[in-house]
Amino acid sequence: MPEILNILSQSSLQDYQDCPRRFKLRYLQRLAYPAIETEPALENEKHQQEGEYFHRLVQQHLIGIPAEQVGRLANTDNLQRWWSHFLDFGGLKDLRSLGLYPEVTLSAPLGKFRLVAKYDLIAIDKDHATIFDWKTYRRRPKNEWLHVRWQTRVYRALLVQAGAHLNNGNPFAPEKIEMVYWFADFPTEPARFVYKADQFKRDWDALIRIAEEITSASSYPKTDEVSKCSYCPYRSYCNRGVRAGDAADAELETEAEELFDVNFEQIGEIAF
Ligand code: SF4
Repeated sequence: MPEILNILSQSSLQDYQDCPRRFKLRYLQRLAYPAIETEPALENEKHQQEGEYFHRLVQQHLIGIPAEQVGRLANTDNLQRWWSHFLDFGGLKDLRSLGLYPEVTLSAPLGKFRLVAKYDLIAIDKDHATIFDWKTYRRRPKNEWLHVRWQTRVYRALLVQAGAHLNNGNPFAPEKIEMVYWFADFPTEPARFVYKADQFKRDWDALIRIAEEITSASSYPKTDEVSKCSYCPYRSYCNRGVRAGDAADAELETEAEELFDVNFEQIGEIAF
């Protein structure tokens, strides 16, 4: 393992699990995505930029800039629709009386690494914390799929492990943590995941195991699941085809969007 890698995030862990080769190209060799040549990829890139911009609009609003002023910056069809859905999102109005911590970064030691996550929003009500993550996916993923993603596991576990300063110096009890994915195109169908002490223990043990595996890894094989390559930006490095696959599998499509997802941790990894 090169010295250069000292940070792990939900996205690098997910890449390692999905395809060790992708993890190597992205986080060890730090290869930029190759030139985007195909139409689906161009669309993905535009969608990604709009997703990033949407996150910025929400963050501006959460730190106090009036909605009308922020809304004037929503200058594409997608942004206007997402912003309007966001304003209609009743839950946010209810949050106004709570302690809101937009774009908080938490980190904790994990083996030889630091585990880092940047949260879109943590809302605190006494000793109860709700983690919000805004998603601009074109499809609403199944809850079962979200439940096992590293993001869902890392964000809740890291809040237990490293969030005491948000709770008067006391670690949050896992039972007092909930994670909510809110989908800008499916505003009335958020996915909610409560937490439990035994799940926290399983998650943290699994994190320690995968960090140890990454520390001792000497080879980074390509995934056997060739379908995962259909939308992978590194296809041309792996002789797994140069054009994006057909949009046949909904979950694969979502995984593709995840690859182009707003990735603050990666920004954190570069700056850390
Ligand atoms: S193209 Fe396939 S094998 Fe290559 S990095 Fe991507 S997912 Fe892994």
